Amino acid sequence: MEQRADYIVAGAGSAGCILARRLAQTGATVILLEAGGQDRTRLVRQPGMIAIFHNVPALKKRLDWGYYTAPQAGALDRRIPQPRGRVLGGSGSINGMVFVRGNRKNYDDWAAAGCTGWSHADVLPSFRRMEDWEDGATALRGSGGPVKVTRQKDLTPASLAFMEALAATAGVKKIDDYNGESAEGVAVCQQNASGGLRYSSSIGYLDQHGLPNLTVTTGALITRVVIDQGRATGVEVVTTQGRGTIRADREVILCAGVYGSPQLLMLSGIGPAGHLRQHGITVVADLAVGDNLHDHLFVPMTYCMTSARNRGTTPYFVGGIVKEAVSHDSWMGRTVFEALGFVRSSQAGDVPDLQIHVLPWSYPFPNQDAPVRHKVDKRPALTIMPTLIYPKSRGTLRLASADPSAAPVIDPAYLTDPDDTRLLLDGMELIRAVMASKIIADQISLELSPGPRYPDRAALAAELPNRATSVYHAVGTCRMGIDERAVVDPALRVRGIDGLRVADASIMPSITGGNTNAPAMMIGERCARLMGAAPAAVNS
Ligand SMILES: Cc1cc2nc3c(=O)[nH]c(=O)nc-3n(C[C@H](O)[C@H](O)[C@H](O)COP(=O)(O)OP(=O)(O)OC[C@H]3O[C@@H](n4cnc5c(N)ncnc54)[C@H](O)[C@@H]3O)c2cc1C
Repeated sequence: MEQRADYIVAGAGSAGCILARRLAQTGATVILLEAGGQDRTRLVRQPGMIAIFHNVPALKKRLDWGYYTAPQAGALDRRIPQPRGRVLGGSGSINGMVFVRGNRKNYDDWAAAGCTGWSHADVLPSFRRMEDWEDGATALRGSGGPVKVTRQKDLTPASLAFMEALAATAGVKKIDDYNGESAEGVAVCQQNASGGLRYSSSIGYLDQHGLPNLTVTTGALITRVVIDQGRATGVEVVTTQGRGTIRADREVILCAGVYGSPQLLMLSGIGPAGHLRQHGITVVADLAVGDNLHDHLFVPMTYCMTSARNRGTTPYFVGGIVKEAVSHDSWMGRTVFEALGFVRSSQAGDVPDLQIHVLPWSYPFPNQDAPVRHKVDKRPALTIMPTLIYPKSRGTLRLASADPSAAPVIDPAYLTDPDDTRLLLDGMELIRAVMASKIIADQISLELSPGPRYPDRAALAAELPNRATSVYHAVGTCRMGIDERAVVDPALRVRGIDGLRVADASIMPSITGGNTNAPAMMIGERCARLMGAAPAAVNS
């Protein structure tokens, strides 16, 4: 295999597909490499399939790297699943499609910490350029972009009642658009899905891209970046045809995600020197790669309700599949979440520090480690997930071995900072107060989970380590900054190496206050702009 291009984009996930398309639009030759396969399968394209394939191991294996964390001391030594998309579109092909930009202050904080070019005003054009919002363009929202964004439809009466009750109890407003003027309040969930189709970055940016200078290669596991006298000159890959090197005449950009990008840097000699030497890897640059790993956590609370709908049954699934085939307008064509809240705990600073996910299913232990817990309970219920959006705990990503096919050691150090536990307990107590409020209490027959065995804060605190689970929003392992411990600079260039950048969720200095896919896609757009490859005008 002897290939070359101006740019190699390593990893075709949420950020990588966007960056590859934008670079190719300049006329440069681009090779986009992806370890996984094609995404032309209903499992990816039909939004509701997420409710099925995440619970069927054989299907999951086709699309997912299937990682787990190291035993988490703060969570009873549980090994918590960390799915990551291994398919065109990356994690954006297997995710819940909840579309949240985050609080504008998140980006202003990045800029204030020295990341010039990343304030809200700086990143807003990238968000607007990517989207096609159902209400049309405003100064804050985009239309005509490759990713269709719509509101969830046909909310269950239980979710509507919860929204009223949360607004009244938490003292917030019901808002129309949390990606618009204000990101504080309770609102109908937005999704990057429309007309029965998931709008991942692959579907939005790569389907029918029509650019002969953009080569998309699937089934290509990148094993290392080739670095010659301080400059990245290409990558080594393994495909079914064997091993080979692909040369980059201008730059290599790693978009392999929060675990893949730091792993590739370390395999290439860029990372903590002592750790690399332990694995027999020659050190090219001693950087704090793999530090600063952090993630959102939530705790599911399930309430059996007279106003909830009966989900999780076979007729419900089959009915959805049939209706979707006929009308493209059923729950199978949408995200499973119905509403989101952004509210302040008593410890909050100047932005909401709790996100509330509202799921119209009885799902007392979503995403957890013990297989028995994956089961959806069949009773009509609402599952509310109070979510820690600004965790203080910080962990690491390290190599398990110098073998590129070995899974890395993922240690987010969940719940090691006591403030994180405090915040989640505040969230659980808030939900109990909401559910006890006059607006909704008479619709509730049972708190199924955590339930009456955990009547107070002390009991919840003892049980929390058994129940807190990842929202799968890990970020931060190739941190952007201007200090000595930063991995990339604000132009996303790896410090000390020429011709090498990182552009994906790993560059976030601190996590955004909401689901991380829209920010990861924005990072792809923003990187293109920083490389002079995205138009200044929105959606041209
Ligand atoms: C199950 C799940 C549900 C989620 N739900 C939501 C949600 O509803 N809303 C939301 O906003 N966020 C959600 N997220 C998070 C969100 O999807 C991610 O934050 C986002 O997709 C990260 O984008 P990325 O570009 O950084 O990485 P990814 O999208 O993960 O892309 C990385 C790509 O690089 C490839 N790659 C890695 N290593 C190599 C290698 N060595 N060689 C070749 N290719 C490689 C991978 O296969 C992958 O395609 C969810 C995530 C998961 C896993």
